[in-house]
Amino acid sequence: MKTNILVINCGSSSIKFSLAEPESGQHILSGLAEKLDSTHALLKWKGVASGSKELGKAGHKEALLGIVDLLQQLNLSCSAVGHRVVHGGEKFSSSCLVSEDSLAGLKANSHLAPLHNPVNLQGIAAAKLAFPDLPQAMVFDTAFHQTMPRQAFLYALPYALYRDEGIRRYGFHGTSHRFVCQEAARRLERPIEELALISAHLGNGCSATAVLGGKSVDTTMGLTPLEGLVMGTRSGDIDPSLHEFLGNTLNLSLAEVSNLLNKKSGLLGLSGKSNDMRELLEAEAAGDERAAIAIQVFVYRLAKSISALTVALGRLDALIFTGGIGENSCPVRQRCLDLLPFLGFQVDAEANLTHGQDNKGIISLENTPCAMVIPTDEEIVIARDTAALIS
Ligand code: ADP
Repeated sequence: MKTNILVINCGSSSIKFSLAEPESGQHILSGLAEKLDSTHALLKWKGVASGSKELGKAGHKEALLGIVDLLQQLNLSCSAVGHRVVHGGEKFSSSCLVSEDSLAGLKANSHLAPLHNPVNLQGIAAAKLAFPDLPQAMVFDTAFHQTMPRQAFLYALPYALYRDEGIRRYGFHGTSHRFVCQEAARRLERPIEELALISAHLGNGCSATAVLGGKSVDTTMGLTPLEGLVMGTRSGDIDPSLHEFLGNTLNLSLAEVSNLLNKKSGLLGLSGKSNDMRELLEAEAAGDERAAIAIQVFVYRLAKSISALTVALGRLDALIFTGGIGENSCPVRQRCLDLLPFLGFQVDAEANLTHGQDNKGIISLENTPCAMVIPTDEEIVIARDTAALIS
């Protein structure tokens, strides 16, 4: 019998879900419960059926009960629930079943991701009520990066801050980087153990990871997802003195500076217009200089980080683009590769226009270093890990 896994991704005011079939990688039904904790929460779904339903005043628990109802109405069954969990800290280097022990470990990490982990815990508790008889698993955004060596994960801070407080680089988007690297190996028909890869996940959040022999050896995000590349609304790397400087000059509090760096910076901050790459490319074409500057900084910093990550690999067999921007934006990919001539990249303009669809996702010319486009599928990784844990 086929095993369906319900994959849950809990945010502060939304729950993304997907009923997935791990073996075939098929999504049977996926959807979103949004505006949770307001009086007009909404459940939307598509797949074998599509539709939407007003949930009224609903929190995470009511939304999950709404999903249970929906599955029953559509006569769909599932064998387990897999949760995306943001921060596993050093305790979790792989996915695990939900148990008293693992939940205690997750709670102990909550200080590392105060915005995310408590919401994930809430989602797990609500799913327990909604699906009392089903096993549940946790799949961590950080776990894939636990193979990073010390030289890559340590900050040059007093060592006690790492030893006693766990302050180090953790990295995120691990399920996405893991998926696209495995998929690259499959498409290139090479064992992943032999490959030196860089994957660039470019969505609203952006990160790039160096993967050697299937293991993450360095990544651009750090203690939090703020470090590294320029993102939709996040600044990425800045001078760490900025907090004090803005406090002194503009009298901003720590919380105000954090809010500025997380919500008002990146593409949005530079352009003053949008965090959406599509809109910025259109604005640039229409002569908007600030949009052009935002894209230029985004691409430059991406290329610079890719170049830096090659230090962790010693060589590069393939560069993978994924995420909404990586999968869809030909100009961003082209401009990024144009900045890396010393790595030998030569873009096949036609293949780039069609996202490499006719050739395994490859967008570089034959006999030149390989650049590829691979659509990510984090839900399938979560479904597969969950299926493996319950079997
Ligand atoms: P999230 O990180 O929220 O999952 P996505 O992976 O969906 O986000 O990526 C969202 C980004 O992808 C947005 O900046 C959006 O503009 C960009 N994007 C989607 N389609 C295109 C496209 N055709 N061209 C350029 N950018 C695109």
